[in-house]
Amino acid sequence: MKPLIKKELPNNFSLPRRISRLSSLAYNLWWAWNPDALNVFRTINKRVWDDVGHNPVAFLRKVERSQLNAVANNPYYLELYDRVIQQFDAYMADESTWFAREYPGLTESAIAYFSFEFGLHESLPVYAGGLGVLAGDHLKEASDLGLPLSGVGFIYNQGYFTQRITEDGWQETGTHYLTFEDAPIVPLYGEDDQPVTISIDLPGRNVFARVWAVQVGRITLYLLDTNLPANSDADKQLTARLYSNDLEVRISQEIMLGMGGVRALRRLGIEPTVWHMNEGHSAFLALERILELVHSGSSYEDAAAIVKRTNVFTTHTPVPAGNDQFPLWLIDKYFPNVWAELNMTRDQFVDLGRQTTPWGESFCMPVLALHLSERANGVSELHGQVSRRMWNFMWPNKRPDDVPITHITNGVHTFSWLARRMGVLFDEYLGADWKDRLDDPALWLSVNNIPDRELWAVRRHLKRKLFLYVDNRARAAWQSGTIHPIQALADGVFLEPYSLTIGFARRFATYKRANLILRDYERLIQLVTNPDMPVQIIFAGKAHPADEPGKLLIQQVYRAVKDSRSGGRLVFLEDYDMNMARFLVQGVDIWMNNPRRPNEASGTSGMKAALNGVLNLSVMDGWWREGFNGKNGWAIGEDAESVDPNQQDETDSHSLYDHLENEIIPLYYKERTPDDIPAKWLAIVKENIRTLVPQFSTRRMVKEYLQEMYLPCLTDEKKTV
Ligand SMILES: *Cc1c(COP(=O)(O)O)cnc(C)c1O
Repeated sequence: MKPLIKKELPNNFSLPRRISRLSSLAYNLWWAWNPDALNVFRTINKRVWDDVGHNPVAFLRKVERSQLNAVANNPYYLELYDRVIQQFDAYMADESTWFAREYPGLTESAIAYFSFEFGLHESLPVYAGGLGVLAGDHLKEASDLGLPLSGVGFIYNQGYFTQRITEDGWQETGTHYLTFEDAPIVPLYGEDDQPVTISIDLPGRNVFARVWAVQVGRITLYLLDTNLPANSDADKQLTARLYSNDLEVRISQEIMLGMGGVRALRRLGIEPTVWHMNEGHSAFLALERILELVHSGSSYEDAAAIVKRTNVFTTHTPVPAGNDQFPLWLIDKYFPNVWAELNMTRDQFVDLGRQTTPWGESFCMPVLALHLSERANGVSELHGQVSRRMWNFMWPNKRPDDVPITHITNGVHTFSWLARRMGVLFDEYLGADWKDRLDDPALWLSVNNIPDRELWAVRRHLKRKLFLYVDNRARAAWQSGTIHPIQALADGVFLEPYSLTIGFARRFATYKRANLILRDYERLIQLVTNPDMPVQIIFAGKAHPADEPGKLLIQQVYRAVKDSRSGGRLVFLEDYDMNMARFLVQGVDIWMNNPRRPNEASGTSGMKAALNGVLNLSVMDGWWREGFNGKNGWAIGEDAESVDPNQQDETDSHSLYDHLENEIIPLYYKERTPDDIPAKWLAIVKENIRTLVPQFSTRRMVKEYLQEMYLPCLTDEKKTV
């Protein structure tokens, strides 16, 4: 029997009766991918909306009652409100979702999706970067398609660090504390009116975690939180931050996520048939599931075989050193009880995750996940190949091509990243049902019906919006009285909206080569300062606090930004997050991505850019190798492996400059119609939308996960039941 779980929206604000449903809207992130729903909040008071970082819960707590009363009596507002509430209710009540129509026999099944981070919206900062944003987009799409899926992760009360750049270009980090009352999270209570909690065993103690729920459309995301009186001060901090460098914290977190996550779902009465590990951090979930079966009488072998059939693992890391792993002394400290309960020797247990490196042996989480998952995938075609080679040692009798790791190329949740105005164009020219046929390439042929003039008007509008955003931030920084004038310059006060603008925003990991375009500095300065055809570049991104080379990279870029010779046309925006990402991928003209091939497993920001009509200039790595067709953007370098990184940097940088000088810049400035429209440019923009939007949407991606990874588990189970 299902346990009784009480899930009541916190009684956080008092609302006029006429608009009291704002509360249910605020506690469901559905609003975050529906621009009209967002406007239901924003139009009440735009300044407060910006002040609270676009967080509806915080907004409703802060906005003045008189303003709520005013809109509750404003017929225009009420028209919007009623329409949105009606759409929301219809969405939530819809019983004929795509999944329900296609798989009517499977609607009662359950899929669990575990991830260390979830990037759903900037107002819930429990993500660091691409991995989290992918997980967030996966949940949103699962909601749209109607998949019976639940997410499991952590509510980090300190989120990921915030970034400031000092005058000499050094990254400083800060902490943003999450105010729980302001977050769109709902506490869960049991029958006894006590918070739903679970516990795990760590050396010498039990550690407790409370379970919170976040509603993402129809999907519930369960977030664990160890900040409880029953825990020691150190354990309270366990779920405080992402990606700790302290390996003991890290392994404890991963035990909590994997083993604690399984216990949380059980406690809630959720019985998943499919267990999806998004990256190896959650792989201990497989151990917990095996323990459950062993405790009820199975042998280890039988239990492992059963568990394996219903585990799905997605790997994201193409570099061996980048994979999550623990020294064996930590395994000795944390797992003796587990291998004893499983009737295993230490050696047999270590075998589950054993990786031998030149520095010795470690316990590697992806190895554990691969050992205990029947189905595993990389996140692009090339990354699939790279992964099969990288993990070949686990299948010594197989050739690399036969290693059982497939690929499902990443996508982005279209509605979360599409500018509202671009969506209006699609509404008008693609037909009313475009949102239901998102992954149908035939639909997108109609992009050619969009008049150039209208498309260009939207592109220019989005660019002005970006520049307004940049200006406002720079002004606020300046008015804070804490920055040097040169930093205001670096913040972008000299940008101007009619110049060709390139965006480069991502984590500052060295393989992403943020400094590639600085390689021939004189050539760059020429490009940037050409009086007839100037180019601007906006950089943004954080380096992991422990990544010294990454921080040096920021400093190197910042030095160029501050150089008077670049005329303020190189810019570095501090504190990259999903909000800034949205402005950038919608507002620039060119999205540049030049990682060292094949280290970019997929990359997703370029997909976000593409669907807004921003053109990609990117290395033939990850998704772009599959997306580029010779006429929908530009490819840097060759689709080939390079042995010498220095040589690769040299060739790629030449290719980068050549494309800019010979093709991109002239096309943007010179090929204009008499009414100043860059017709050839827009032809590429349309080709880019036509080919890339359907292919790199999570609509296609989640359907592939369902068909290739989830369904075999779901139908397998049906047969045995
Ligand atoms: C999309 C996104 C990423 C991932 O971008 P990549 O191109 O994969 O590096 C990282 N951070 C934020 C905030 C994003 O929105």
